[in-house]
Amino acid sequence: VWSDCLSFIQDNIQPQAYKTWFEPIKAVKLTDNALSIQVPSKFFYEWLEEHYVKVLKVALTKELGENARLVYIIKMENTYGNKQPFTEKIPSSNRGNVKAQEVDVPLKNKSPELKNPFVIPGIRNVKIESQLNPSYNFENFLEGDANRLARSAGLAVANKPGGTSFNPLLIFGGVGLGKTHLAHAIGVEIKDKYPEKTVLYISAEKFTQQYIESVKKNNRNDFIHFYQIVDVLIIDDVQFLSGKTGTQDVFFHIFNHLHQNGKQVILTSDKAPVDMQDIEQRLLSRFKWGLSAELQKPDFETRVSILRNMLYRDGVEMPDDIVDYVAKNIKTNVRELEGAIISLIAQSSFNKKEVTLDLAKQIVEKFVKNTKREVSIDYIQKVVSDYFQMDVATLQSKTRKRHIVQARQLAMFFAKKFTKASLASIGSQIGKRDHATVLHACKTVDNLTATDKQFRKYVEDLSKKLSL
Ligand code: ADP
Ligand code: MG
Repeated sequence: VWSDCLSFIQDNIQPQAYKTWFEPIKAVKLTDNALSIQVPSKFFYEWLEEHYVKVLKVALTKELGENARLVYIIKMENTYGNKQPFTEKIPSSNRGNVKAQEVDVPLKNKSPELKNPFVIPGIRNVKIESQLNPSYNFENFLEGDANRLARSAGLAVANKPGGTSFNPLLIFGGVGLGKTHLAHAIGVEIKDKYPEKTVLYISAEKFTQQYIESVKKNNRNDFIHFYQIVDVLIIDDVQFLSGKTGTQDVFFHIFNHLHQNGKQVILTSDKAPVDMQDIEQRLLSRFKWGLSAELQKPDFETRVSILRNMLYRDGVEMPDDIVDYVAKNIKTNVRELEGAIISLIAQSSFNKKEVTLDLAKQIVEKFVKNTKREVSIDYIQKVVSDYFQMDVATLQSKTRKRHIVQARQLAMFFAKKFTKASLASIGSQIGKRDHATVLHACKTVDNLTATDKQFRKYVEDLSKKLSL
């Protein structure tokens, strides 16, 4: 069964991903409709669940039918010589002799996040499941310069939900920098300190779906009521509300109600409020009432401590030079950092290879190549100026010569498209312009691409050069 699943999976994902994430898995047993597979670590399991659950589910239901279940067996020893018992997370009865932790995942309705918290309120006794992930807590959200403000604001809010001026607390930053983790951590901490408080975590996407559903079913008021009775509302990835006026509208009312009643609202977003597009002004101004705290890319020291913490929690020992090597070379975000180390552990443990610096180099190299790298604005300016045979200083200059203006606008357009930088920051990096100029440049490029054939060719050529 498993090998049939594997060939299906192999056809449906990238070869490198297959090699990294599926080759190390061992099928252990099959009973009725439950297949047990052995994976090298807890992080490996979490990674599979996060990234490959869909393809796994399709493959398994194809083989075993609708009631298919998957049991993960997490291998506890490692090949670095010593068997370390787990110190955390695993119930104590599992320590010592027992080598594997089993996680049984029914494929329907799996992770708590996917459960629908929207129970139509039967007037009073609504039970709200907070949808929090207890492993996203403060203890393992490691502190560094890049997250100090956001982290301590989060702690302050957790100590006095609704009782600080950080209401709402908006956490923003690029992908994989810990927004979701920190948002959960605040919720988890509040639940810990104030068990009687109702805390609710929900993604903006799920919130939107529920809202649309409630309109269809004619119970919009129940929907609003449900959200108005919580003490702490955490909405993840609010940029998702862009352009969704109906949902923004209902959220505005819920927000006001909660705020007026001293309830805490926590939001995350991939952009700062000033850079959010297609969000109503009145909502944006609410976002700015409290505190906006940014999560930035962690520096080297923090990356090292994040890795060490992961290894420690996973019961794995690894030489310092290897940890340093990984931390030095993977800088994009914490998620990539985790991916690389998990993959390293997996490769070494299943091929019974020792973790050497060479192996780390191989894996990090593949990993870096394989993940979409964000190009830098400097790089974009270089590529665009080369293409038009001018130098970067000319591209940035104040001149109004048409071909130079176009080159500059293209650089701005690609910076918007290929980086996470805000309009303001793109403007300041490309010849000290303001954000309105960048916005105008993007619109001009869109228009010209639609109307001017020669210009379209520029855009296509440059797109190719810039996609790594
Ligand atoms: P985002 O929501 O910003 O895309 P996540 O919160 O999903 O990012 O974080 C990605 C991964 O990185 C998660 O597994 C998270 O636990 C981990 N992570 C992020 N920041 C930290 C940190 N400061 N310390 C430890 N782990 C972190
Ligand atoms: Mg997130």
